Amino acid sequence: MKPNDILNNLEARHPGEKEYLQAVHEVLESIETIYNENPQYKAAQIIERLVEPDRILTFRVSWVDDAGDVKVNLGYRVQFNNAIGPYKGGLRLHPSVNLSILKFLGFEQTFKNALTTLPMGGAKGGSDFNPKGKSDNEIMKFCQAFMLELWRIIGPNTDVPAGDIGTGGREIGFLYGMYKKLQIENTGILTGKGINWGGSLIRPEATGFGATYFTHEMLKNNNDTFKGKVVTVSGFGNVAWGVALKVIELGGKVVTISGPDGYVYDKAGLDADKIDYLLELRASNNDIVSPYVEEFPEAKFVSGKKPWEIPCDIAMPSAIQNELNGEDAEQLVANGVKYVAEVSNMGCTPEAIDVFLKNKVPFGPGKAANAGGVAVSGLEMSQNAMKLNWKREEVDEKLLHIMSSIHIACLKFGTREDGFVDYVKGANIAGFIKVADAMLDQGVV
Ligand code: NDP
Repeated sequence: MKPNDILNNLEARHPGEKEYLQAVHEVLESIETIYNENPQYKAAQIIERLVEPDRILTFRVSWVDDAGDVKVNLGYRVQFNNAIGPYKGGLRLHPSVNLSILKFLGFEQTFKNALTTLPMGGAKGGSDFNPKGKSDNEIMKFCQAFMLELWRIIGPNTDVPAGDIGTGGREIGFLYGMYKKLQIENTGILTGKGINWGGSLIRPEATGFGATYFTHEMLKNNNDTFKGKVVTVSGFGNVAWGVALKVIELGGKVVTISGPDGYVYDKAGLDADKIDYLLELRASNNDIVSPYVEEFPEAKFVSGKKPWEIPCDIAMPSAIQNELNGEDAEQLVANGVKYVAEVSNMGCTPEAIDVFLKNKVPFGPGKAANAGGVAVSGLEMSQNAMKLNWKREEVDEKLLHIMSSIHIACLKFGTREDGFVDYVKGANIAGFIKVADAMLDQGVV
């Protein structure tokens, strides 16, 4: 296998899908050696089959806003690969959503889900709908119209969507309500559900908690801990607040949060009260930045910049893809960063990852570091299937165990001769082998 030949073919077939091609490129580079050492993969054209989604549903979503105007959005579901379990992956609601982004996310999700040790295939979906500034009623109308198309191809043993950017508990509720109405069935069709109608404890915090557990394993591997570490975090969404909570619990200090317009630097560090305050602002759909710096005047807002210019021990990008580039990485390294955990999906550009690896800064890639979210989604599916609810401690313990297993898999396939761990390579190889072997077992389908 020559990664460039495969990429050239893929680019000719899907011109301009840059995020998707970027994601495939990263995986192909990591698995090249192991693929070429195992001729059974080539004989079954595993790569050629793996890089194309099983199917894609694209649909129009028409809905009526509060002013009575008709709105039209595009909806998608990319069912990427179900070799090891039902399709599983979130729904992103954001104006930037397009097929390239959803294909990259679905591709990555396939390997991430394989790493969790749970039986889940990979998928992703969403819409270019922007929930920002919309009323609850408008969000409900949109979600209902979206589900009116999606429901035909999902099911508890077929495809189980979840949240992602722009899709939190409120949206999952509206989507679930419509599915139940159409299917007349109360099943675990979505994850991230409310706790009193089939949700799992810890699910809202799971991605952030899991990423922090994974980072904790990276630290432990270097006989280090979170105690006293300065941590920079970007965003303040579903994921970033879980990171902040757990980092603080483990003794670290989170000094930044951010949005598309800039970042907030709070030298004193976030604490539980500040996080509660931010969550209240978020829940009321308000801008969080200006009220925060008014309420806590020791914090400052830096407009138009990213938090990576603040010196830190650990950087945890938690907002959006490609939010940390080569220059940001150079600056972090110059300022003495010791570890980087990519909590957002593809949060770091390939140039940034090269800088970290060249400088021997342990870098945990998203498909390993942020797998805690989908892992607890998998645990939510198990609880739904058993019609049981596990206690908070039970779910948290399982999450910790899963993140530690992912870390062990990364060490197994990513430890270099000099002892440095290339987590990107480790995660890609471990995820790939599991999916590829399942595909081999199941024949050409
Ligand atoms: P949210 O929409 O809840 O939060 C996204 C956050 O990022 C918001 O605070 C948003 O600010 C901020 N943001 C958006 N665009 C930018 C930008 N260009 N620069 C800086 N900040 C920005 O999404 P999630 O927290 O759910 O997801 C964050 C990342 O984590 C995504 O990459 C997602 O794919 C990944 N992820 C999420 C999982 C989950 O369980 N939700 C699971 C695994 C991965 P504002 O609100 O002001 O726009």
